[in-house]
Amino acid sequence: MPTSNKRGRRIHDNKHCGCVYCKMSFFHLPRHLYAVHDGEKHVAEILAADSDRRKGLLTRLRNFGAEQHNLCTTKTYVRRVPVK
Ligand SMILES: [Zn+2]
Repeated sequence: MPTSNKRGRRIHDNKHCGCVYCKMSFFHLPRHLYAVHDGEKHVAEILAADSDRRKGLLTRLRNFGAEQHNLCTTKTYVRRVPVK
């Protein structure tokens, strides 16, 4: 799988974001959050905010979900020791 195109820039085709609450990955994270987790404190705060603040809060929640996903995957990662 190529990681760059002809212009030498990296391809970012993985746009799935992890949900903080159900630990699953979604293509449209805000849509999922508003439909499923509208009762959560942070999602209610996002829904009540104006557009500029909503963008920042969504980014914060998205980053937190990515961090949790990364922590989860590194805990299950088994480091392979090379055999000499
Ligand atoms: Zn969820």
